[in-house]
Amino acid sequence: MDVTSFGIDHNILLRGIYVSRKDTVENGTLTTFDIRMKEPNREMVMDTAVMHTIEHLMATFFRSHPLWAERTIYVGPMGCRTGMYAIFKGDLESNDVAVIIKECYDYMSQFSGELPASKAEMCGNYLDHNLEITKIECKKFVDEVLSCLKKENMIYPRQEK
Ligand SMILES: [Zn+2]
Repeated sequence: MDVTSFGIDHNILLRGIYVSRKDTVENGTLTTFDIRMKEPNREMVMDTAVMHTIEHLMATFFRSHPLWAERTIYVGPMGCRTGMYAIFKGDLESNDVAVIIKECYDYMSQFSGELPASKAEMCGNYLDHNLEITKIECKKFVDEVLSCLKKENMIYPRQEK
């Protein structure tokens, strides 16, 4: 199965959870997910402060999760600011992570208190955060996408050759 994201047409890509790529490493497979929060080239992107706050909260959620901490290799923002990447151990499909990613976005949309790792000594740009807008963006993604995922929110549209 060809899983590279190179051939997808971003102009018709919707919001959702997509398998971006799979990499074979020594003893198994790593799956990179494209967690797409904005329709590329059609919707306003998130600002960098929101992307940064999501990065801190998403990393905290997965790295402290009793089951998923061990499976989580990386989470981070897309440079285009339309979504996040998450890399997990295992040969996975979107259905395998749909529940945990919705839990993560519920956690972020309801987060209160001090943002994790937001002290100057723990972050490269500690003033560049926006928790309130992050919560709004995460709730919107849950309500409009994650709570009603369809096939087209989990399978990439293929580029016409
Ligand atoms: Zn930071």
